[in-house]
Amino acid sequence: MQGTHPLDPETGGIVPPVHPSTTFARDAHYDLRGRTSYARDHNPTYEGVEDLLAHLEGGERALLFASGMASAAAVVQSLRPGDHVIALKVMYWGLRNWLIQFCADWGLELTLVDGDPDSLRAAIRPGQTKLVWIESPCNPLWQVVDIAAAAEIAHAAGARLAVDSTAATPVLTQPIALGADLVMHSATKYLNGHSDVVAGALVTARADDFWARTERNRKDLGAVLGSFEAWLLQRGLRTLFLRVRRSSETALKLAVHLAGHPRVSEVLYPGLPGHPGHAIAQRQMQGGFGGMLSIRVTGGFEAAQQVATGCRRFLPATSLGGVESLIEHRAAIEGPDSPIPPDLLRISVGIEHPDDLLLDLDRALESPA
Ligand SMILES: *Cc1c(COP(=O)(O)O)cnc(C)c1O
Repeated sequence: MQGTHPLDPETGGIVPPVHPSTTFARDAHYDLRGRTSYARDHNPTYEGVEDLLAHLEGGERALLFASGMASAAAVVQSLRPGDHVIALKVMYWGLRNWLIQFCADWGLELTLVDGDPDSLRAAIRPGQTKLVWIESPCNPLWQVVDIAAAAEIAHAAGARLAVDSTAATPVLTQPIALGADLVMHSATKYLNGHSDVVAGALVTARADDFWARTERNRKDLGAVLGSFEAWLLQRGLRTLFLRVRRSSETALKLAVHLAGHPRVSEVLYPGLPGHPGHAIAQRQMQGGFGGMLSIRVTGGFEAAQQVATGCRRFLPATSLGGVESLIEHRAAIEGPDSPIPPDLLRISVGIEHPDDLLLDLDRALESPA
């Protein structure tokens, strides 16, 4: 797999071409010249990217989508009325909220659980549960879900396990090797890594009937990624390993440093030995614990917001997984119904020098509570 050396066979170009064409001509026999007739069905710019993602995740096939949300929706919309879905109480906020609404509107039953094996076992309905949707480490508390245990529980009941692996990336975790059937990514985050593309990806362990329905959803509902975005994504992927490893190393340094800080009441990071998911993370993550952490600062909502706006290197913005470090006051974004503590700051660690980031946080935390 020449993921980082995609030589163009036509020209010898050392970066792959972008194919902006929406339609593809036929030959004298009216046969297609290539593999596609129309860019909503299939886009040649996707090929290398999808093959690379399938390879990195150890899956059979991959599909790109217009966003992470579109990729998750394509899976859920492959279910049938009456099917039961299990998801997490605390997971990517937008997806959880959409699931609650969509399941209610479309006659799917939904149970939200904590994510530990006991909670999954208690919720699962053999024969009726068709999809178990987990995320690990999950946003924004960075709890770790035991993927192998979840797969065993799902499979024993005849359900599929889908893992939102956006925060872990294929660099740190391989959900399919642990038993997952589907892996989802908001490619907007680490896979692209430069905060300039909104994209989603799915990888399947097997190209089965369910996958065929999911693939049809992309084509029929049309949540396709543009050619230029797909091209930018493959460009971003070329540095995925370097970026994720760097972010992970720095995140661990920051977590260790902040764990002893008088203005920080709690550091949520799976790499810290005191984190409740540390033992599972050690088992299912390789080479690091990710570039995402959250901290709870003393002084509550107002103090947290002051720290977020007091940073200079860390930009106060949503999203994650880019080369630039971001800090976000989640409770301010999620509003009064949010289950997230009001004093929590979510930190996406970029690739800047770790000392600059440490100094920046220290300075912001010095401001009076
Ligand atoms: C951002 C994100 C999503 C949604 O992806 P979009 O690309 O914004 O549609 C889903 N899950 C996680 C964990 C995310 O961080």
